[in-house]
Amino acid sequence: MSHASPSRRAAVAIIERLRGAGHTAYLAGGCVRDALLGIEPKDYDVATDAEPDAVRRLFPGSRYVGEAFGVVLVAQRSASIEVATFRLEWGYADGRRPDKVEFTDAEHDARRRDFTINGLFADPRDGGDEIIDYVGGRADLEARLIRAIGDPDQRFGEDYLRMLRAVRFAARLGFEVEAKTAAAIRPLAKYLGQISRERIGQEVLAMLTGPDPVRAVRLMQALKLDSPTLNEDPAEPEPAVLARLTPPIDAPTALAAWMLDRRGGSSSLTAAAGLSLDMVLRRWRRALSLSNDVRDALHGQLRLLGAIRDWDELGVAQRKRTLASPWWAGAWTLARAVEPGVGRIGADVAALEADGVAPPPLVNGDDLIAMGLEPGPRFKQLLDGAYDAQLEHVIDDRDAALAWLRNAAEMTR
Ligand code: ATP
Ligand code: MG
Repeated sequence: MSHASPSRRAAVAIIERLRGAGHTAYLAGGCVRDALLGIEPKDYDVATDAEPDAVRRLFPGSRYVGEAFGVVLVAQRSASIEVATFRLEWGYADGRRPDKVEFTDAEHDARRRDFTINGLFADPRDGGDEIIDYVGGRADLEARLIRAIGDPDQRFGEDYLRMLRAVRFAARLGFEVEAKTAAAIRPLAKYLGQISRERIGQEVLAMLTGPDPVRAVRLMQALKLDSPTLNEDPAEPEPAVLARLTPPIDAPTALAAWMLDRRGGSSSLTAAAGLSLDMVLRRWRRALSLSNDVRDALHGQLRLLGAIRDWDELGVAQRKRTLASPWWAGAWTLARAVEPGVGRIGADVAALEADGVAPPPLVNGDDLIAMGLEPGPRFKQLLDGAYDAQLEHVIDDRDAALAWLRNAAEMTR
């Protein structure tokens, strides 16, 4: 297939090489699912009966990504392809990697996977892919269902993260969670906290930044996963703020929207900005193992809602300082989702931005020292004042700024 992507061509070349050496090898998992749905797969995985050592020998320059797990990374020109030996896995005591694996055949490898739509193999042949389906994945792709392979209670019990994966795939693909699969999740949801917070956070961020975070949140709440995910009381509000954002949404903004939706901050900017969220922020940060960057952005965006609510009372300097914040873009998106009417300040925002919200300061501490002042807390006050005057065009050049400073220093002596 000449129109195939470079990664697909790389994966097919690897399969042909393995086959030439007498092995069985297939495209596996997500890439087969996505290709059947007409979605360009994110990455291509290969599954084979060749053991890792044999794979290593066939592909010079390949390396183990987890020898014990039977996965070898093969670099092929632009693409890196994971080649995994057909295997069974047990336990995720460390919450990341299986405790134990055992090499097996294709059918058992398919059956240890989480959902039927993720348990498909494809054998790339000249006439097109032959799909190898041990688990009924094709029928569920047709029926648009997320169904656990085998007994759902047992499968979720083996790895509770699968409960969140069910939600993520349902939201990403617009599928339903099949009834017995959903019924198994509800009573097990409370055990989610037994897996690592990093894994939970990754799944949640992936669903919130995906194509349908509203569907993800509704499903999480309906399946009772919200409380164990966030370590807080269950709540099933309609995600109104989130619904007014257009996916894909960045992680901090999506988290902020969901946070407001869960605490009744959806009704107005006054309600949203009035919430005291410090404890909630700390709790979510821990529950989702948020990075410092995401935490800072989430906190920054929520804090700026107050300034947006009070916009009419702010002076030009305060408005410009607000607009210069690194969290402004996210906060502005969020504020309009909380209260669309706030868009009325958009013209003012645009005008201030055109005027320049963060010009380089005309004066600094060296100027105060040159005036004979002792460095101290007064410095910041004086320089903040000078910068406000600059932002308000009270002073527009260095001479005026120095004169302003001299005068202010004199008055506050
Ligand atoms: P994505 O496009 O999001 O990467 P994916 O289906 O490729 O989707 P991965 O997390 O990359 O998902 O995993 C690759 C495959 O490994 C899955 O399709 C599934 O067959 C299997 N798998 C992954 N995680 C689990 C799990 N926790 N339990 C069982 N099988 C899993
Ligand atoms: Mg994948």
